[in-house]
Amino acid sequence: MSKIRVMDEILANKIAAGEVVERCASVVKELVENSIDANSKEIKIELKEAGTGLIKVTDDGSGMDKEDAVVAFSRHATSKIMDEADLYNINTLGFRGEALASIASVSNVLLKTSTGEVGTLVNIKGGKLIKVENTDARKGTVIEVSELFYNTPARLKHMKSLYTELASITDYVNKIALSHPNIRFTLINNGNTILKTDGTNNLLKTISSIYGIDTARKMLEINGEDDDYVISGFISLPEVNRAGRNHMVTLVNGRVVRNQELNKAINDSYHSYKPDNRYPIVVINIELDPSLVDVNIHPTKMDIKFSKLEELLDLIKNIIINKLNKQTLIPEAITDFPVLEEIKEPIVKEEKQVLKEKPKYEEITLDFSIQEEKSDYVKEKDNFEYKIKEEINEERLPLLYPVGLVHGTYIVCQNEIGMYLIDQHAAKERINYELFKEKLTHPTNENIHLLLPLTMELTNNEYIVLKENFDFLKNMGFDIAEFGINSVIIKAHPTWLTKGFEDLQIRKILELVASKEKDFDLAKFNDYLAATLACKASIKANTDLSINEMEALIDDLRKCHNPFNCPHGRPTIITFTKYDLEKMFKRSGFESLK
Ligand code: ZN
Ligand code: ZN
Repeated sequence: MSKIRVMDEILANKIAAGEVVERCASVVKELVENSIDANSKEIKIELKEAGTGLIKVTDDGSGMDKEDAVVAFSRHATSKIMDEADLYNINTLGFRGEALASIASVSNVLLKTSTGEVGTLVNIKGGKLIKVENTDARKGTVIEVSELFYNTPARLKHMKSLYTELASITDYVNKIALSHPNIRFTLINNGNTILKTDGTNNLLKTISSIYGIDTARKMLEINGEDDDYVISGFISLPEVNRAGRNHMVTLVNGRVVRNQELNKAINDSYHSYKPDNRYPIVVINIELDPSLVDVNIHPTKMDIKFSKLEELLDLIKNIIINKLNKQTLIPEAITDFPVLEEIKEPIVKEEKQVLKEKPKYEEITLDFSIQEEKSDYVKEKDNFEYKIKEEINEERLPLLYPVGLVHGTYIVCQNEIGMYLIDQHAAKERINYELFKEKLTHPTNENIHLLLPLTMELTNNEYIVLKENFDFLKNMGFDIAEFGINSVIIKAHPTWLTKGFEDLQIRKILELVASKEKDFDLAKFNDYLAATLACKASIKANTDLSINEMEALIDDLRKCHNPFNCPHGRPTIITFTKYDLEKMFKRSGFESLK
């Protein structure tokens, strides 16, 4: 019996009408999703000229019989949705029956498919059936789309540069590979292999295929659940971060979704472990009852609304924060050769520059191809086993012994594992920050009276806001009152201000309170205030510390909740392991070390 039925007309209209086929990437997406829905174990995507020349998708899926192969090209034919309720169930990928028909109406499509018995070949060009005939019986489907947009010149003109087309196809295939580690994906453009996954259902291996083994080594596995959600996946160490949000991949029941709130919660969980404007690499799968989500059925976007969003965000934040809080996060100094990931990843922001100088496509594709020759070091790393090590460190920062100070800035330390450099400003900033934050979130009324009261003049606007916040300041431990026109007098301040920095810190606090915004968030304000004060009260560069002072600083740093980063996410400490040092001095293997 035919698997494809013609979709109910009313339902078809409910699917947001519009541009299914906008560009090469949307064709790739439709074809690949059809292959996935056909239970393929291997999907090969071959492109010529980033898809503008040819898009060929070969799969080993269930294939179609002759009847289905022809009906597949009729508008609203689909095997996936039978009634409206199914639209809200996102367990199947393709739900847009018109996709193949749309593609065939603007290109030349050659379909070869077989269920394992008789094979069928269908050729459709510009929406017109050109031929249907029997062909060989290899099970699966091969579909070739060429001359895309040949009959819609406006659309053709609208296509972005080949580089952009290829980048967006690569991005799509990367994500679909991450969401289907059990399927073997190959993406080839003009003969260059861009991506190859092994389909062994090992997500970390798939991550490695995309980002390189160095990144895969720095991924942490996460797991957790509550009554409504089951969370699993991998998150990068904070030191592995990117300028764009694009590498935070969230899956809902195995399907890639984009959701700003999720991305924000993930990034917030890394707060102060890395700069806030750099984003981690994560692949997080959320499993839930499909009735808990509302999927927006715009054909080109995948937007999603969770009915218990707050609960989900809290769960994800807790899982990530708990994971990070158990790690030792001292980045190793960069002693490697250029890593594969930097060669492999399309760097889209350089596009304009590249295109200006090199309009030829062949040259641009080089950036995408996997380097076949591997250095010895990389080969050595290939032996990395895809097992997850559970590292739980009670003492997050090891014992360190200071040796001296370089450039009045970096404390050199050592222990049996290696050599460490601590940025004294960043370290002290972290110590101050945690102290201030603790004091700000648990205010006491204790204060210190100033021998000489401090007066401060403000603009009339600042004065008005500040006056409204006298109680807020009093709770913090200030004795503050009006003092003439647009001026205030401070007679006492909280006990936790840094000695020698009191005036500076008071002024900074008043300034910040006076600039309070309408949608004021106390936790954020405290965080910002603590970070600002911490920086002001930290050790400046070119300040010499004695060994005793260094020891005290390291001691305080070790007591920190996160000893690895300043409140702005910069590292406080980096390490050269003994191995790194031996490697750099080429000692390993040549001489025994004493
Ligand atoms: Zn600073
Ligand atoms: Zn900082």
